[in-house]
Amino acid sequence: MDYQNRVGSKKGGGGLASWSQTNANLRERQRKLALESIDLAKDPYIFKNHLGLFECKLCLTTHVNDGSYLSHTQGRKHQLNLARREAKERESRRHDVDLSQQQSATGTESQPLKRKTPKIGRPGYNIMKVKDPLTRQLGLTFHLEFPEIALDEVPRYRFMSAFEQRVDLPPDKRFQYLIISAEPYENCAFKIDAREIDQRNGRFWTYFDKDTKDYYLQLFFNNTPRRPAASLPAAPVKNN
Ligand SMILES: [Zn+2]
Repeated sequence: MDYQNRVGSKKGGGGLASWSQTNANLRERQRKLALESIDLAKDPYIFKNHLGLFECKLCLTTHVNDGSYLSHTQGRKHQLNLARREAKERESRRHDVDLSQQQSATGTESQPLKRKTPKIGRPGYNIMKVKDPLTRQLGLTFHLEFPEIALDEVPRYRFMSAFEQRVDLPPDKRFQYLIISAEPYENCAFKIDAREIDQRNGRFWTYFDKDTKDYYLQLFFNNTPRRPAASLPAAPVKNN
């Protein structure tokens, strides 16, 4: 739009602020804009100390500027601490919810609740939506709890296309499935968008905490759309 030639607008109008003020305002505006767009302003963990350095209160790390703080927040260490913190915060709330869910899941209300010896069914889990403030990629952090996991067992994952699986029918090519398994738990399948997952170094990671038996998996979707459906593998065909 051409503001200069709009009716009522004067060239150089409204110029009461001095040049330096204007510049300072502009800088401040740009800075705010940048902070907003990368959500640093909302980041509860960033802290500017008396030396002008940026600290991550979550990881207890120090960074020379907000840019390097930002790249720190994309690293595995920060992401993992973030997931852990989130999991911890949910823990107390979840416990109550779990109990009521178990109760309603049994169907018969008279059935006593066994708290100390849970059946080996599905593990407790939560999923966090994440967004990379730099690349704008959307992602998911999965957190599963395997307190009764078998000795020396490490949870495993695998991705499955809609056509590979035989549970959620008819197959819907818009989705894929992330299956996480750990003996003696039932396999968990999470239905997620059938978008390409960013497999670049460090972008996709899993972590199993052998002490707490917490399992974490984080993925980011590529921004580019998935290849056309025609190139997807077809359903397996039996040879007889
Ligand atoms: Zn951090």
